[in-house]
Amino acid sequence: MSNAVYGVAIIGAGASGLMLAANLDMGYSSGVVLEGTSCIGKKLLMSGGGRCNITHGGSIKDFVSAYGDAGPLLRKCLYKHNNLELIGFLEGIGIETTEEDGRVFPTSMKAKDVLDALVSEAASNMWQIETDAKVCGLEKSTDGNWVIQLKDRGEIKAQSIVVASGGITYPETGSDGSMFELLKGLGLSIKEPRPALAPIYVDYYPYAELAGISIPDVSVSVTGKEAGDKTVRMKGDILFTHEGFSGPAILNISKYAREGAALSISYDKSLENLPKRMQRILQDRARGESGDIKTKMLGGLLDKDEFTVKGVSERGMVSYGGVKLEEMDMSSMRSVADESLYIIGEALDADGITGGYNLQMCWSTACSCADALRGILTNSY
Ligand SMILES: Cc1cc2nc3c(=O)[nH]c(=O)nc-3n(C[C@H](O)[C@H](O)[C@H](O)COP(=O)(O)OP(=O)(O)OC[C@H]3O[C@@H](n4cnc5c(N)ncnc54)[C@H](O)[C@@H]3O)c2cc1C
Repeated sequence: MSNAVYGVAIIGAGASGLMLAANLDMGYSSGVVLEGTSCIGKKLLMSGGGRCNITHGGSIKDFVSAYGDAGPLLRKCLYKHNNLELIGFLEGIGIETTEEDGRVFPTSMKAKDVLDALVSEAASNMWQIETDAKVCGLEKSTDGNWVIQLKDRGEIKAQSIVVASGGITYPETGSDGSMFELLKGLGLSIKEPRPALAPIYVDYYPYAELAGISIPDVSVSVTGKEAGDKTVRMKGDILFTHEGFSGPAILNISKYAREGAALSISYDKSLENLPKRMQRILQDRARGESGDIKTKMLGGLLDKDEFTVKGVSERGMVSYGGVKLEEMDMSSMRSVADESLYIIGEALDADGITGGYNLQMCWSTACSCADALRGILTNSY
């Protein structure tokens, strides 16, 4: 790696770091992408079960509510760099897309094609991608440049840095949360990340034998255990697994499900319209001491099957938490504390529901950051 000062260093070669590199021409400066592992884009390759649900169809206005409280703060960058722009960009670099029930995928259904196309664009934008370059220290030197310490590889300098290091789930992909400690050291506030879009485990789970069966269009709600905690409600399909509840409605509500919270499921169907094996389990659960089925109790289970949350799987698709958005100028993704520090993608305290909203957020934040950096790089040459 060069001893000269890089114009921009991106920390993390995941979806957001590579989307930025694919959008920012470094021909007049020098840019390096520092990836801590030996492999780039591991989480992108896993996305959509390897098929990569890259975004969602429809109006971008409908995206805002998909990010919960973060939605209104993301609005500006989502509108500026929206789903149609992402689809158009992909087509421009040779990736045709297809929509399935609102979800947009590469027509090849291969996440690898998306990764390869982004890497090829990054190379033509003159980015140098360095693997096995784990950032383990960050400080500002007296000349205003960043000094970036790399594990077992010395240090490099850069004028601006972009943190694209992801969240905390699936740490074997390299997204191990290590950058959050360094960012805390720089004085940034971090909302402690925890898994989201994850299966929920409950006490006394009765449906292990239904593993693999899903029920469409049910209503789920989660109420925190502290007095005053609000109830969050969602509608969608649920899936029974050996160990707990999964499926879109459960994954989407999981970020609110902390240990001790109440999970309530309303199946919104009569008993006869549920799978036979489930009917039997519900009937058994509604039996009185004498063995007869209590009709009222059975109706109660159909209407409000209640559980206490034991926990949420560590294998969340995204993290809930990260760098607080109040720390950021949301039109440039620049930290308000330091104008040469940018943060994009899942490292931010912003996460969406399933359906392509998380990769769209990576795109919108990466492109907003590219706009800001383009302005600086153009002015300095
Ligand atoms: C199983 C699964 C399926 C998913 N499916 C979808 C889907 O279909 N659609 C969708 O929208 N979203 C999906 N997601 C979520 C989506 O993949 C992520 O939100 C997205 O990849 C995050 O991109 P990122 O670049 O912000 O972070 P990441 O992809 O996590 O990349 C961060 C990179 O930074 C590197 N890094 C971390 N720390 C350091 C350090 N200290 N030094 C150097 N490098 C570092 C990591 O090694 C990693 O390569 C899925 C996630 C999972 C786990």
